Amino acid sequence: MKLYIFKELFNGEERLFNQSIITDGEKIIWTGDSDSDEISTFTISETIDMSDNFVMPGLIDCHVHLASIDRAPTNAIGWAQTTINALDKLKKLMTAGVVACRDLGSCEGVTIGISNAQKCGELEGLPKLISSGKALTATGGHGYEIGVECDGVDEFTKGARLVIKEGADIVKVMMSGGVNSLGEEQGPPEVNQEEIDAAVREAHARGRKVAVHAHGNTAIKRSVLAGVDSIEHGVFNSEDIMKLMIERGTFLVPTLCAPYYATVEGIRREPDNPDHKKSKAILEIHNKATLKAFSMGIPLAMGTDAGCPFNPHERAFYELVLLHNIGIDTADVLKIGTKNGAILLDQDQLGMIAVGKEASFIALSKSPFEDFNAIEGPKDVWIKGTKIQ
Ligand SMILES: [Zn+2]
Repeated sequence: MKLYIFKELFNGEERLFNQSIITDGEKIIWTGDSDSDEISTFTISETIDMSDNFVMPGLIDCHVHLASIDRAPTNAIGWAQTTINALDKLKKLMTAGVVACRDLGSCEGVTIGISNAQKCGELEGLPKLISSGKALTATGGHGYEIGVECDGVDEFTKGARLVIKEGADIVKVMMSGGVNSLGEEQGPPEVNQEEIDAAVREAHARGRKVAVHAHGNTAIKRSVLAGVDSIEHGVFNSEDIMKLMIERGTFLVPTLCAPYYATVEGIRREPDNPDHKKSKAILEIHNKATLKAFSMGIPLAMGTDAGCPFNPHERAFYELVLLHNIGIDTADVLKIGTKNGAILLDQDQLGMIAVGKEASFIALSKSPFEDFNAIEGPKDVWIKGTKIQ
């Protein structure tokens, strides 16, 4: 058994001082005050003194892309490279403090192979991967290059069954175009009500949650009415739909990093690309809708959309900085990055530093409660009781 002594702890719910934990293998078996008499009742083989550190549960990134999102490789050499690149991105997420992530669409569902390997006990020391495999999309719809094109109730029914057969842990549906797609409204709907109803029915019947890419108001509304589990992005959301999301317990994964990097990095690197300029106008709308959703009580979870243009896996923690910048307080931001993600991804063993949970946590040299930018600093990372970096 190992004893860890911390200066300051965020346990997934609250900020505490002068705390210690005891681990046995992968699990946390005791937590409490560092001066508690109970500690002497355990047989401690090693004491890790971190009395200068701030410690919190490892981050959970509910929206990443680990393998090429525009086109699939054409031969075996390309596939080998793509898989190794995906593993490298998983490692980069770990360096950012991430201990679990959800891939919401990668070419040919290559990430299912990685999550299957993890289910067999392989690839220890990397973040746990939950994978959607291929996303369902309308013919020619958003992300069709790497998705399963479906039209009509029968094809959405079959599409959901197909990705689950291939090993998807979750079903991803592209409900709308991008923010800059042509259409009657921004983020135009591409999937109709009956179609998303069918996908949700099939996924839920097989114990899988549904995450939808939805920017526009109509697409968000149809998704919530269908009973999806999380709205990804949710840029043009409105109060009437937010009320519905509260009633139904629908999560919002705003992915503030996606427009942030598209705008800031995009304009810097490609100053003449009109898409980047349009993204800038969307930023303010997205920030307001996210803060409104949080204020109304919609559960938020952290998702970066890392793997999209200019959006680096190794800076996944920056999503928390952006959530803090829009006006969400420190404790709530850290909860969004940890406990809430564990709930959305059904990873009950993660998201908190508490008895019975996995010893997967991160240590920082400074406290984000003193200066939120501390979250950007170097991190020590433990996964399942083992220090990885
Ligand atoms: Zn995405």
